[in-house]
Amino acid sequence: SSVVSTSFQQEADVQENILRPKMLCDFQGQQQLKDNLSIFIRAAREREEPLDHTFLIGPPGLGKTTLASIIANEMGSEIRMTSAPALDKPKDLAGILTNVTEGSVFFIDEIHRLKPALEEMLYIAMEDFEIDWVIGQGPAARTMRIPLPKFTLVGATTKAGSVSSPLSSRFGITCHIEFYNEKELAQIIARSATIMDISISKDAIDLLAKCSRGTPRIANRLLKRLRDFATVLGDGIITTEIVHHGMGRLGIDLNGLEKQDRNILRTIIEFYDGGPVGAETLSISVGEAIESLEDFYEPYLIQKGYLKRTPRGRMTTKKAYDLLGLSSIRNSNE
Ligand code: ATP
Repeated sequence: SSVVSTSFQQEADVQENILRPKMLCDFQGQQQLKDNLSIFIRAAREREEPLDHTFLIGPPGLGKTTLASIIANEMGSEIRMTSAPALDKPKDLAGILTNVTEGSVFFIDEIHRLKPALEEMLYIAMEDFEIDWVIGQGPAARTMRIPLPKFTLVGATTKAGSVSSPLSSRFGITCHIEFYNEKELAQIIARSATIMDISISKDAIDLLAKCSRGTPRIANRLLKRLRDFATVLGDGIITTEIVHHGMGRLGIDLNGLEKQDRNILRTIIEFYDGGPVGAETLSISVGEAIESLEDFYEPYLIQKGYLKRTPRGRMTTKKAYDLLGLSSIRNSNE
C-alpha cells in the first residue's frame, strides 16, 4: 500500500506543478507585491548581485512556494527547497548552506519552526555569508569560519508573530500575501481550467471563485472535484448547477465556509456565549489541532468578519450569529 500512496502523492505533486505559475507575469493578483518584487529583481539583476533575502508571510495555499520558485526563475538561478521541520541538527543546515551555488535561492518553508541553534547559524549565514563550525570537543574544541557562496534566503511562514526579531530583521524584503479577491480567483480558475482542459461556464467560474476561501490551492482543488461531478452527473461541462450541487455535497457555502468553520463559530456561541475563549480551549472543543485552527481556519473567519481575536481570546461577531441564524440567542444574552 505504501507504493500506492507514494504514487498518489507524486501525482498530486505533478498536478500542483502543472498549475504552478513559472514567471511573475503568470502569477495572478497581489499586484502591489508583484510590482515591487519585479523592481527589486530587475535592480539585482542589473547589479549582477543576488536578490536580498526575502520573507514571505501569509496563510497556507496563497502561493508562497510558488513565489519562491518564481523568484529563482526570474533571477535565472537555481532553487533549493526545504522546510524547517526537516532540519533537525546543525549539520543538516550546514550541509545545505555549504552546497548552495553562487546567486541561487534557498527556500525554507515554515521558518517559524526552525530550532534555536539552527536559527543562530542562519543569522550569520544571512548577514556575513559564512558559518561558524565547531570542531572537536571540550578544551580542544575550536571554531572554524567557513565562507559561503552569496545566496538569497527566501523564508516563508504562516505565523509572522512566531518568528524572532533577530531573524525577521535580517530579511531585506518582506512580502505579505493576502487572500485573493473573487476577480483574481476567477482568473486563476480560468487559467487552471485551460491548462487541465476542463469545460466550465463563465458564471460557474464566478460562483466557484466565491466558494474558494480566497485561496488558489482550494480553487484548484474544487475545480478538480467539480470536474468529477460534471463527468459523472452531467455532460462533462461545469455549470452553475454543478457548482451549487457540488458545493452542497462538499459542505461548502457561498462564502467559502466549510462545515468546520461553522462548527467553530457555533461552538463559541453555544458553549462560550460568543467568547472570549482561548485558542487551546477552543481547539479541544472543536476537535481540531491548534495549528490548523490558528493557521487555516481563523485567518479566513477573521478576514470575513465572523471572528475577532482579542487579548482575552476569540470572540464571534454579530455577522456570525446572523450566518448561523442564532441572532435571537445573541439578543437575549444582551
Ligand atoms: P503552503 O505554505 O501551504 O505550501 P503556499 O502558500 O506555498 O502554501 P503554493 O503551494 O505556492 O502555496 O500554491 C498552491 C497552489 O496554488 C499552486 O499549485 C499554484 O498553482 C496555485 N497558486 C498560488 N498562487 C497563485 C497565483 N497567484 N496565481 C495562480 N496560481 C496560484
